[in-house]
Amino acid sequence: MSIKIGVPRGLYFYKHYPFTKAFLTELGAEIIASPETNKEILDIGSRFCIDDACLPVKVYHGHADYLKDKVDCLLIPRLTSIYKKEYICPKFGGLPEMIKFSLTGLPPIIDTEINIYKHNANLYKSLYTLGFKFTKNTLRIKKAINKAVKAHLSYEANLFNGSTPAILIDKKAAYGTCNNHIIGIIAHPYLLHDSFVNMNLLEKLSDKNIRFITPEMVDSKVIESFGQKLEKRMFWSSGKNLIGSALYMMQNNKIEGLLILTSFACGIDSLTIELIHKIANRTYKKPIMTITLDEHTGEANFNTRLEAFLDLTKKMTLSC
Ligand code: SF4
Repeated sequence: MSIKIGVPRGLYFYKHYPFTKAFLTELGAEIIASPETNKEILDIGSRFCIDDACLPVKVYHGHADYLKDKVDCLLIPRLTSIYKKEYICPKFGGLPEMIKFSLTGLPPIIDTEINIYKHNANLYKSLYTLGFKFTKNTLRIKKAINKAVKAHLSYEANLFNGSTPAILIDKKAAYGTCNNHIIGIIAHPYLLHDSFVNMNLLEKLSDKNIRFITPEMVDSKVIESFGQKLEKRMFWSSGKNLIGSALYMMQNNKIEGLLILTSFACGIDSLTIELIHKIANRTYKKPIMTITLDEHTGEANFNTRLEAFLDLTKKMTLSC
């Protein structure tokens, strides 16, 4: 019987799940992902996580708790660096410990570290370390890595072309694309693609015939080159990603405004968003709005701010 591995649907789930699933399935494991975030998952995460954590980390706790009785082990990798010479938010690195100390009754946790700060080759070392937990056959691990890379590249290409994780992972229907009214959305994937946390933002926009561009639809080389326009190099990967995407979007004449989603208590965003607003004030002549999300954000309040932003873009009255 194959080992059941639980993958919490939080943080970089919507970035890495196709890779993870392809890799571990090829090694004979059964992958169980937690369901989409719901009130119960959020409430449990908020109750057991430390108070001053950001919303996405609380949500992650809720997903890990949901899975704990249903699987043989949980996969909670320790992400330290996922791009050379850059670091990821320290919350990712401390996640396995946070979960172990906050939740009870957990199965064993696989917490293999991913740290490619010095060398990209370290990723392969980590994957072999993880793979050896399932087989001693290096050729089999190599085959699993190749399959996972292929799945990841295909997933990224689809996101780049306008698809979303909801379509690609959860097989939901595609949004309509029959209009030319476009806004840019700047947000981490765990805010952008968690429809419970963002109160169905993408569906709401689609219902209003508004298209959107997300950081996943911006070429990584473009993000790099716009990121380099900063006076000082941004060494947080997620910050660089958001700033590079925002600068590109602000120069893109097709975009009617920029909507930024952030999480209360996010240290990296406090710097990143400040920088985006500073640059926007100098150069960007279109609407820009930041909406902060936490576990207490009410939908009526969120809708009011969204409507105000969309009014500013003057696109709501147009339809395809
Ligand atoms: S980048 Fe911000 S929102 Fe994301 S995990 Fe870190 S503190 Fe939380």
